[in-house]
Amino acid sequence: MTRDPDLPAVPLPSLSGGSPGLAPVPPGASLSREAIEAREDRELAPFAMRVDATRGRVHDEPEHPFRTAYMRDRDRVIHAAAFRRLEYKTQVFVNHEGDSYRTRLTHTMEVSQVARTLARALRLNEDLTEAIALSHDIGHGPFGHAGEAALADLMRDHGGFEHNAHGLRNVDVLERRYASFRGLNLSYEVREAFAMHAPGDKRALGFERCRPLLEAQLVDVCDNLTYTSHDLDDGIAAGCVTPEEMREADLWGATWDGVVAEHADLPRPLQVSTAVKRVLDACVSDLLAATSARIAAAGVGAPDAVRAHPHLLVGYSDAFGRLQRALARLLHERFYRHPRLVRMAQKGRRFLREIFAAYTSDPATLDRPWKAWADEVGVPRAVCDHLASMTDRQAFEEYRRLFLPHERA
Ligand code: MG
Repeated sequence: MTRDPDLPAVPLPSLSGGSPGLAPVPPGASLSREAIEAREDRELAPFAMRVDATRGRVHDEPEHPFRTAYMRDRDRVIHAAAFRRLEYKTQVFVNHEGDSYRTRLTHTMEVSQVARTLARALRLNEDLTEAIALSHDIGHGPFGHAGEAALADLMRDHGGFEHNAHGLRNVDVLERRYASFRGLNLSYEVREAFAMHAPGDKRALGFERCRPLLEAQLVDVCDNLTYTSHDLDDGIAAGCVTPEEMREADLWGATWDGVVAEHADLPRPLQVSTAVKRVLDACVSDLLAATSARIAAAGVGAPDAVRAHPHLLVGYSDAFGRLQRALARLLHERFYRHPRLVRMAQKGRRFLREIFAAYTSDPATLDRPWKAWADEVGVPRAVCDHLASMTDRQAFEEYRRLFLPHERA
C-alpha cells in the first residue's frame, strides 16, 4: 500500500526498547492466577461473586496457572460446538432471510458486551458475567422461540423442553470434548444461572431455591435490553416496521423525534442507527443508576445476601421500566406478529413436528450415535436433544433428507 504523501509518517514503536514513558516489563512478571484472584479481592464490590469462593466443579480438576475458574468457564463455552452453532440459529430472522440480521451468536455477543460494561461499572465479577452471557442461549434449538414452543409441545408428556433447562443439559451432559467427563464441567455459579432462569423447582435440577447472583441477574436484564434495541434495528431494516409507526412507544417516539429534528439532512438509515444507539444508551444508563441505588439501599454485603434477598436488585427505575416495557410490547404487536415472521415461525414448527414424528415412530432411521443415545435416555428425549442441537439449516437439510424422494438419505 502506498502512503498518501500529505500524511505525516507515523513513527513505529521500537520492538526492542519499549515506548518512551512506559516502564519495560521485567521478564517473569506475568500475572499468575493467584495474583488475578488477589486483584479481584481488592477491586470487586463486597456483593460481587469472588472466584475463590466458588462452590466448584462436579469433577475435580487441578487449577490453571494463569486463568481463574471463571475465565476457564468462559473459554470452555467459546470452544463448545453448541456455541459455534449459534451462528446459524434464528434470533428473529431465520438464517437464510439475510446476512445482516442478528443471529443467536451476534445477539449473544451483544449481550455479553453490554453485560461486561455494566459488570465493570458495578464492580461485579466480569469473567463470571461473561461466562453466563456467552452461554445464556446455548440451549436454544433452531427457529428461535417458535422452535422452542414446538419442542415444548412435542415433549409435553416426556419431561418437557425449555431453553434454559436444556442449556444446563447441554453444558452438563451433551457436549463431549473432554476425556474424563461428559459436558464442560463448568463452575457451580455458571450452571446455577441456567437453573435460576429455568421454570419450575430448582431443587429438581440440583440447586437450592434462592435469588440469582447479581452477575446472573445482570445478564438476564441485558438480554432483554439488547434484543429490544437490536430487534428495532433489524425490524426497521427489514421493512417490517417503520420508525414512524414505532413512535407510539414514548421511549422510541421522543428519541426518534429528537434525532430527526437534530439531523434532518442525515440519510434515513443513519437517523435510525443514531436513534437505536440513543435508546440503548438510555437503557444502559438508567439500568446502571437504578441498580446501583437499589444495591446500596438493600445493604447487601455478600453474594449470599443477594441470594437471600426477597427481591431482584438489577433493574430499571420504575418510571423508565414502564417506558421500556411499553416499547417491548409495541415491538411484539408490530414486529414479532408481522406476517413474514409468522410464516417463518410456522414453517419452522412444521419442520420440527414432522422430523420428530418421523424419528420417534421409527427410531431405526436415527444415525448410530443418536440411536445409541436413545437406548440410554429413551427415544423422545434423544430425538429432542438431536433436534435442539440442529441449526436452522441442519433442520432444513434433515427435512429434505427424510421427506424428499430425490435427496440422498
Ligand atoms: Mg438471549
